[in-house]
Amino acid sequence: MATKRDYYDILGVNRDASDEDIKKSYRKLAMKYHPDRNPDSKDAEEKFKEAKEAYEVLSEPEKRQAYDAYGHAGVNPQMGGGGPNMGGFSDAFGDIFSEIFGGQQRAGGGGRSGVFRGADLRYNLEITLEQAARGTETKIRIPTLEECDTCHGSGAKPGTSAKTCHTCNGAGQVRMAMGPFSMAQTCPTCHGSGKVIPDPCNTCGGTGRVKKHKTLAVKIPAGVDDGDRIRLSGEGEAGQGGGPPGDLYVVVSLKEHSMFQRDGNDLHCEMPISFTVAALGGEIVIPTLDGEAKIKIPAETQSGQVFRLRGKGIKGVRSNVHGDLMCHVVVETPVRLTDRQKELLRELEDINIKDGDKHTPRSKSFFDKVRDFFAG
Ligand SMILES: [Zn+2]
Ligand SMILES: [Zn+2]
Repeated sequence: MATKRDYYDILGVNRDASDEDIKKSYRKLAMKYHPDRNPDSKDAEEKFKEAKEAYEVLSEPEKRQAYDAYGHAGVNPQMGGGGPNMGGFSDAFGDIFSEIFGGQQRAGGGGRSGVFRGADLRYNLEITLEQAARGTETKIRIPTLEECDTCHGSGAKPGTSAKTCHTCNGAGQVRMAMGPFSMAQTCPTCHGSGKVIPDPCNTCGGTGRVKKHKTLAVKIPAGVDDGDRIRLSGEGEAGQGGGPPGDLYVVVSLKEHSMFQRDGNDLHCEMPISFTVAALGGEIVIPTLDGEAKIKIPAETQSGQVFRLRGKGIKGVRSNVHGDLMCHVVVETPVRLTDRQKELLRELEDINIKDGDKHTPRSKSFFDKVRDFFAG
């Protein structure tokens, strides 16, 4: 196993850094290395995880103390007593996105005396480019664990109650000697709750939670892009033992569009024009996300030329500026020609040839290069 880097080094702060400095530094790193901003980069992913782990330890006074005293052995993340956490989202992560999307602060993690924060849930929502550009409201139906109505989450049959666990005397943890340290481990009898239920509730089997479906209205802000997440605070799974619920993350993906490709807040499209319009100039009508637009094609327009329509792209969710629409010219070769049309074209070609290469600047420079290539 590779040696673990020092948590303070990872965050680039001194050992006496304030909580605020640690948070600030972590936030900077998390924004920089966030997987959504660095798709396909293993290196960024590693750095993101590393920063997250360092922050999770240094942001909690107890863990930070243990780390200062014993180093990594004092805070092995595998041994911690944190609540269940699904889908790789953590408190720190939610914090970042609550700022981006203007959500609320969450109510702290759990883990003590069987009080667990509910798991976070992820929902993949596919929307069209038009919906992303204008924003949309949609309803989603998600499976979730909710507090049991029969026992109100206690897990005990109505009229009975949970008893203190005898193995751990209600602490939820037992201490085990490991080398020079004594490590806390989750109690094997009560699995950390500190309580045992002699008469479990019939509805939920003693878990205090039941599987249900719920329908939620989700507001998608205008300008969202592929991979953006919208956090619905408290809409994840119900907590255990009175713990707060988890959050729901709606992860946006964009359907492919028949016309436009999105690149950040800019849009790109192919614009086929006939070779006569390309040669003589003209005006063509193109679609944009908010209606038709006209483009004046100057004479002698070439394939690959790009016409930029300012402000006809997308207004980003985190900016006030509209992107542009880039129309890439493709000069179209005519097909299914009649004999008469072919005759006219041959006549045109004969005149062109007589003029040398003055009508075909690209062919001229191309054949010059070919000649140089074989001479060289
Ligand atoms: Zn129940
Ligand atoms: Zn116990």
